[in-house]
Amino acid sequence: MHTVRAAAEHLRDLEPYDPRYLSARIGLNANENPYGMPAAAKLALKNALDSEPLYRYPDPLGLELCTALAHRLDVPRACVVLGNGGDELLFNLCLAYGGAGRTVLTAPPTFSAYHTNAVLTRTALLEVPRASGISPEGLLDFRVHEEAILQQLSASNPDLVVLTSPNNPTGDCLTLSFIQELLDATDAVVLIDQAYVEFAHPSYDATPLLRNNANLALLRTFSKAYGLAGLRIGYLVASEEIAGELRKVRQPYSVDTLAALAALAALEEEAETLAAIAHSNSERERVAKALGQLGLGLFVAPSEANFLLFRVPAAHEVWQRLYDGYGILVRDLSLMPGLASCLRVSMGTPQENDAFLEALATILSKDQATAPPSAALDTPA
Ligand code: PMP
Repeated sequence: MHTVRAAAEHLRDLEPYDPRYLSARIGLNANENPYGMPAAAKLALKNALDSEPLYRYPDPLGLELCTALAHRLDVPRACVVLGNGGDELLFNLCLAYGGAGRTVLTAPPTFSAYHTNAVLTRTALLEVPRASGISPEGLLDFRVHEEAILQQLSASNPDLVVLTSPNNPTGDCLTLSFIQELLDATDAVVLIDQAYVEFAHPSYDATPLLRNNANLALLRTFSKAYGLAGLRIGYLVASEEIAGELRKVRQPYSVDTLAALAALAALEEEAETLAAIAHSNSERERVAKALGQLGLGLFVAPSEANFLLFRVPAAHEVWQRLYDGYGILVRDLSLMPGLASCLRVSMGTPQENDAFLEALATILSKDQATAPPSAALDTPA
């Protein structure tokens, strides 16, 4: 055969996920923990090579880790499902609750995987765009339109709601009272993706809502605060009913023995992770000030996560110059709908952040020297 039959129709316009990964001297593009894997997790991995029977399949449900998570979240163990990163769980959620003839509601700009998963599972996407303006405090305002979402819930009755708190890439959170309003307004599964919640103010932790809401699911990951992105492990916590449906669609051995052991160790010895979170959060305040009105004069979005979104004239060119001239990789989002002129920078170590700020200041001062005044500041999109 010299030809191959076409793939399924719904894949036709789908682009493979492209994190625009490039190797860089300073990687501030993927919201990882810049301090690396916690020592306890490293030790668990080293020991496991000697002591674990890695020629055997892993425990399919990762019961030891599920037990530890359930204990910490104060829920029955049957409410916790592990996945090969949060990514797998997001896909599985669409497999279980989406599908042809069903609808998922999202609020873009947000994590692009929701869109991809909807297309892959033939779930119709109902998008309620976020705000796109400047707040009275002079900050980028990307908050969700709460009223519009509630209105769509009653008008369109979606089967699944996926909202992100803190949101990637805008950094803002949903209040628990709004999440409760959503849960009261529908029996659809409401997934709150809390991949970055460890960096946020504790009042945004939605776990207290699990107790009384059978339709709530929370997504968490070990990739960000816990520094295990390379091992691929995340978890979802929800009612036993939702968790049970997710166990039906999961791949039996998607979480490997080493990832589960490292996650357990990182959870049990948390001091290093808590210190990394504290550093990240104080760097976030410092970098936001340096980028903002009193520093480089850029519009910045207030963030509860380990990254900052900011708007800069000629964003793509700035991105390129940061990379070519300084080996600094940030995330260029300027072509994403609703994010014209926006770049996202992950919080690195203080030295990495200084290198980024200095490079950006140099690039922008050169720009100001050469660019006509009209190009100096894009109008807000
Ligand atoms: N949710 C959000 C909002 C994210 O930004 C990410 C990672 N980029 C994930 C989920 C998935 O992370 P992981 O698969 O590494 O757990």
